[in-house]
Amino acid sequence: MARLSDPITILKGIGPAKAKQFETLNIFTLEDLICHFPRGYEDRTKLVTIDKLQVDVPACFRAMVMNTPRTTHVRKGLDITKVQVADHTARLNLTFFNSRYVSENLRYGQEYIFYGAVSGDFIGYNMTNPAFESLDSQPVTTRRVLPIYPLTAGLTNGAVLKAVRQAMAICDTPAEILPGPIRERYGILPAEQAYRAIHEPRDMAEAEAAKRRLIFEEFFVFSAGLSLMRAARAEKRCPPYENLNLTPFYAALPFRLTGAQQRCIDEILKDFRSGAPMNRLVQGDVGSGKTMVAAAAAYAAVTNGRQAAMMAPTEILAEQHHASLSKLLEPLGIRVGLLTGSLTPKNKALVRSRIETGELDFIVGTHALVTDKTVFSDLGLVITDEQHRFGVGQRSRLSAKGDDPHLLVMSATPIPRTLALLMYGDLEVSILDELPPGRQTVDTFLVNESYRPRINNFIRKHAQNGNQIYVVCPAVEETDGMSLKSATEWAETLQTAVFPDLRIALLHGQMKGAEKERVMSEFAKGNADIMVATTVIEVGVDVPNATLMIVEDADRFGLSQLHQLRGRVGRGQDKSYCILTTRNRNPETLQRLKAFCKTTDGFKIAQEDLKMRGPGDFFGSRQSGLPTFRVASLGSDLETLTVAQQASKDWIEGHGAADTPEAKALRSRIQTLFERSEGTMN
Ligand code: ADP
Ligand code: MG
Repeated sequence: MARLSDPITILKGIGPAKAKQFETLNIFTLEDLICHFPRGYEDRTKLVTIDKLQVDVPACFRAMVMNTPRTTHVRKGLDITKVQVADHTARLNLTFFNSRYVSENLRYGQEYIFYGAVSGDFIGYNMTNPAFESLDSQPVTTRRVLPIYPLTAGLTNGAVLKAVRQAMAICDTPAEILPGPIRERYGILPAEQAYRAIHEPRDMAEAEAAKRRLIFEEFFVFSAGLSLMRAARAEKRCPPYENLNLTPFYAALPFRLTGAQQRCIDEILKDFRSGAPMNRLVQGDVGSGKTMVAAAAAYAAVTNGRQAAMMAPTEILAEQHHASLSKLLEPLGIRVGLLTGSLTPKNKALVRSRIETGELDFIVGTHALVTDKTVFSDLGLVITDEQHRFGVGQRSRLSAKGDDPHLLVMSATPIPRTLALLMYGDLEVSILDELPPGRQTVDTFLVNESYRPRINNFIRKHAQNGNQIYVVCPAVEETDGMSLKSATEWAETLQTAVFPDLRIALLHGQMKGAEKERVMSEFAKGNADIMVATTVIEVGVDVPNATLMIVEDADRFGLSQLHQLRGRVGRGQDKSYCILTTRNRNPETLQRLKAFCKTTDGFKIAQEDLKMRGPGDFFGSRQSGLPTFRVASLGSDLETLTVAQQASKDWIEGHGAADTPEAKALRSRIQTLFERSEGTMN
């Protein structure tokens, strides 16, 4: 018997060259191979007679070869082999292109099973390149449900099939991790049966059952891991905060908090009082005022003698938070610092030393906060803003700089609840479902190029009113072969050909941090009329005077991304607009964008996005911090997710530490999964 961890090169027919091809599919071991699941199936089980074959509907039939196959050499590289077959109902002409195999293997007078689709009409039916096997062979391409595997250049479906079959013959399938009672309760196949059936199902129903089991398993493992982690964290203790009087903070605010903000803050204060570290997600649509909730939490931590740190995904955002938060909190005696990558080395060192000595109470920064060089004197609260923008591990690395600090995670992307559970299943959730008063909806329109002159007039009108305009482009520079509007060129065009008299700024992600910062703050000060930008402005930027956003080639963005972008306008008192331009004519795309124009509900938009594009694309091209699932799809398997989540939660609560083989296998599987997606779930 071979082991699951053995390399696939122990299989017959897999030498170093073949192994390389498998490697591009991330298949190294027998286990990888056995877990390389089909992406679909072809049902080749049905056997019909020739007269029942339907045009373009592939099926299997049994027939005898009526003549010796004849090959004609048409030209270089094109040989055509013709042969006639028949059963008791009809005759059929078969044509094969460039197939030596046919003339060598189809024998006159013998019967075979064929699989193919007829084409043609009453003048004559024909079948091109059917698969065939002799009656006594083990079914590989006919008389079965054929799995269709994800492939790579040079690797055929047959080759994968053969390799999988060999692997399954010489080693056991991965261990059972689902406890018997759970399998019974949810009607789920045992592991071994599922692994066999997913690769070699007897029929489509068995393939479905196998798939269902494996999807359930993936979600179960993931949710069980989260539950275990939550349980481990629940055992941690920290001294409760004594001083939770926020009156001075509330008095310093330039506005009244919304009911939702107040509720969130109260939930946080309750956590602070509890004697256990807080693990809380604050989720609220763009503009719902998350920053103030974070400020309140920081105020509470600092007045209890601890340090607070807030990590933002971009320098621009960190700068903005620092500016507004220090204005608010410094008068209350809180020393607010800023730490970003673009500070000069000398300044960075200075800020770091003040963090270490405790001369700074509240530090706002980028991922510069999590490097080894940053040492806190007494970190009591970790806040991450726009959590979904962070790469794996950063949240946990920042937390590790304190002694089980309180954790506050803020996310603007309104994630559908099921997905939120998955990404943040280990956190309590507070929802900011109320916008500050006086906020107006941003009127949104979808237009094509024929509106260009009107768009330009509209831009000019806003500029003349003293308001500012964002123009968002999908690319930074002109890319070959794609006619996407690039920020750089488009800024140039607008400046020279359309608005020579207006001040146009350019902002994109390839600019240096300090330069971006300068451009952004100039714009915020009103020193530019138009900002041509890429999606770098998507997150958090706050310029209340901006009232118009043009999104060029809007079809290139995800709906959630458009929603984030649109959130950059309508932040002040003036009526604001968002114009989406597109050159796309696909009716579905236009439909989607039109629907977007009509709704302002971020949750609905997110749900739609998830359905359309799946979670991989959910946050644009960035990673979402989610593990990759092999079989499960977050777009379409959400129901199974809900069931598996509940099942795993119940199970872990009752039997998490059990000593059965299943429980051990489950724990080891959880470990592997969480290591593979290191940190996403801490
Ligand atoms: P988010 O981060 O949730 O998108 P922000 O915290 O940036 O939102 O807040 C958006 C804007 O609303 C900011 O200009 C902020 O000062 C303002 N704001 C926040 N809370 C209130 C409130 N209760 N009343 C009025 N304005 C508010
Ligand atoms: Mg924000």
